[in-house]
Amino acid sequence: TSGNDPIVIIGTGLAGYTLAKELRKTDKDVPILMLTADDGHSYSKPMLSTGFTKNKTAEQLSMADPGRMVEQLAVDVRTFTTVTGIDAEKQCVLVGDEAITYSKLVLAWGADVIQLNIAGTAQESVYAVNDLLDYRRFREAVEGKQRILIMGAGLIGCEFANDLINGGFKVDIVAPCDGVLPGLVPDQAAAAVQDGLTEAGTTFHLGQVVESIDKVEDGVCCTLDNGTQVVVDAVLSAVGLRPRVQLAKDAGLTVAKGIVVNRLLETSAPNVYAMGDCAEVDGHVMLYVLPLMECARSLAKTLTGTPKEVTYGVMPVVIKTPCCPVAVLPPPVGAEGEWSVSGEGRDLKALFTDESGLVKGFALTGALVSERQALAKAVPPIHR
Ligand code: FAD
Repeated sequence: TSGNDPIVIIGTGLAGYTLAKELRKTDKDVPILMLTADDGHSYSKPMLSTGFTKNKTAEQLSMADPGRMVEQLAVDVRTFTTVTGIDAEKQCVLVGDEAITYSKLVLAWGADVIQLNIAGTAQESVYAVNDLLDYRRFREAVEGKQRILIMGAGLIGCEFANDLINGGFKVDIVAPCDGVLPGLVPDQAAAAVQDGLTEAGTTFHLGQVVESIDKVEDGVCCTLDNGTQVVVDAVLSAVGLRPRVQLAKDAGLTVAKGIVVNRLLETSAPNVYAMGDCAEVDGHVMLYVLPLMECARSLAKTLTGTPKEVTYGVMPVVIKTPCCPVAVLPPPVGAEGEWSVSGEGRDLKALFTDESGLVKGFALTGALVSERQALAKAVPPIHR
């Protein structure tokens, strides 16, 4: 390494680009090199599940191409450059045979979609949408088509169901759980969302999994484990995300569910940091935008000489299912307590309280989503 080695950021998603922006607020000159496996376009990932409603192509969802980001942020960006290894001792990242040295390294390389191993002859008709390039492929594939089967009834599956319905598609959802948004909201709130999506035109097959996906004359036939067959034009897999940890693990960094970092976002290796979907920050893996913004702000300070621990406040998540909007603050993992639900029809307020009566989480549906800010004030933050 030499004195001029750049800060290297791996990833140009919201985590990578937000960090670069924050860094430039405090230091105009420090060299920054960004490496990305994708095309380096800047985009807001949450918009991917509103693209059919708004009828936006991938080009229209791109906010800036990498050339513009290079100019705006005074950084170097290398696109379609997949990092294949890290040598934490020599302070370099590997891209095949090439070694790139860093002064500080930030892992902002996101999460992988979980891939199911399903039998059948129509594997190429199964899509997942976790970045802008995926979105482009999926959108092109379903252009002029009508029927889509979504595997998964979590946040992403429900958002895409609503979005595709708004885009004029016929949607079937298949998922092994008994209700939508498993683990996020209590049963009654899940029922309200399922009701809204059903009324909008979604057909649910809950408590079921897809066993095989095969080519047939007029599309692909999905066979469920109860024998039901659903013929569609394409399958969208939305069964979950897993922080990318393998390269970090291979390099000897401590990993758990995500790449383990403390509140300074330091990994177990010197001068190596992690943030965004790949990181497990002080025990929390949070695959959302607000936590990564907090991390970008404090990490920018830390990397430019003023160490600052990240603080997570109360960060409710709004689920983009306009047929029955939801705002949820999931209770902390392992929290003891009970849900209590009030309200009527699809307008529900569910509170998760511990034995001392303290609200630790909530779920709001329908018209009551508007109470989320007020309610958030009653919940203790993750960090003080
Ligand atoms: P990513 O955006 O995945 O970026 C990872 C980057 O790393 C990419 O540039 C990739 O090319 C690069 N990379 C990966 N591996 C390598 C490698 N080996 N070498 C080089 N580069 C590599 N959150 C909310 O808070 N609200 C929402 O409404 C919301 N809606 C969402 C809707 C959808 C459809 C999805 C999929 C997610 C949504 N989220 C939402 C989650 C939120 O978008 C993510 O938490 C956030 O965008 C993650 O950003 P990231 O930069 O960590 O990861």
